[in-house]
Amino acid sequence: LKKTYPLHGSGGRFFGKKEQMYAVDGITFEIKKGETYGLVGESGCGKSTTGRAIVGLDKPDAGSIFYQGKDLCKLSEKEFRPLRKELQMVFQNTLSALNPRQRIGSILEEILIVHGEKNASARKERALKVLQQVGLSEEHYFRYPHELSGGQVQRLGIAGALLIEPKLIVCDEPVSALDVSIQAQILNMLVEIQKTSGISLLFISHDIGVIRFISDRIGVMYLGTLVEEADAESLFENPLHPYTKALLASAPDPYIVRGKRNILRGEQPVRTGEMKGCAFCGRCPYAEEICKEKTPEMRGVQKGHRVACHLVGEK
Ligand code: SF4
Ligand code: MG
Repeated sequence: LKKTYPLHGSGGRFFGKKEQMYAVDGITFEIKKGETYGLVGESGCGKSTTGRAIVGLDKPDAGSIFYQGKDLCKLSEKEFRPLRKELQMVFQNTLSALNPRQRIGSILEEILIVHGEKNASARKERALKVLQQVGLSEEHYFRYPHELSGGQVQRLGIAGALLIEPKLIVCDEPVSALDVSIQAQILNMLVEIQKTSGISLLFISHDIGVIRFISDRIGVMYLGTLVEEADAESLFENPLHPYTKALLASAPDPYIVRGKRNILRGEQPVRTGEMKGCAFCGRCPYAEEICKEKTPEMRGVQKGHRVACHLVGEK
């Protein structure tokens, strides 16, 4: 999946420039039915762009996104529409998308109207049911968005995504703005909902602790590309890519990483052209000549564990 993006597109860091950056390039991964796939990486690494492309909010300029055997990138707007409701997204800041003068119940029911539910009492019943599913109640049905706490607003965001029984929900930093104790409650709730509904989640976060808690499998992104992928346990037990190791070691609660402790130094650069060599080259303490010349491909090193680094397996 390859995509060019105006420079103001990512995290607001590049506002005002007209150049194009490569937001996401050369990524391949698969989300299985009923699993939680965690995408982790620093801000600006292309996690959100990837998630937005999957639900159809951004259109990649090349590549394919397969969903139930269909390439979403090749569908017309009309062909995509029935699939769109199966692919939902929850954002970090749900409140900013809500009409402050509309009651919660009406906000939810409006989504159902858009998706063709004509029966008013069916709409109300469904709205109350999802409110209950996310730990809100009939009392909240009559409230306005600003009357909810930050955690409740994010619960409402999840309710909105659940409303029309999706198959996949992309959660883009859904708890990042919340206190840690509230985060835990909401993550536990998501795990519960997923267990009972069998929905797949693509969970995007810069927070390695959150990713570890929620994910079955994890993809680590750097500078628009995927550098490592493994099931959650293997990734934390045996991180292989120098960037993953540095990311784990420099987390606020550092994870013990065997071998040389390699703390992230410098900043993730902005990428404005085709990749030449390894994306992590400029910050990697192990970089060699080949790293500058040749872009490492993702390759399987153990079952279910893929990594894109020339030197892994040779040390
Ligand atoms: Fe470091 Fe080279 Fe591996 Fe890239 S390919 S992570 S620069 S050792
Ligand atoms: Mg983001």
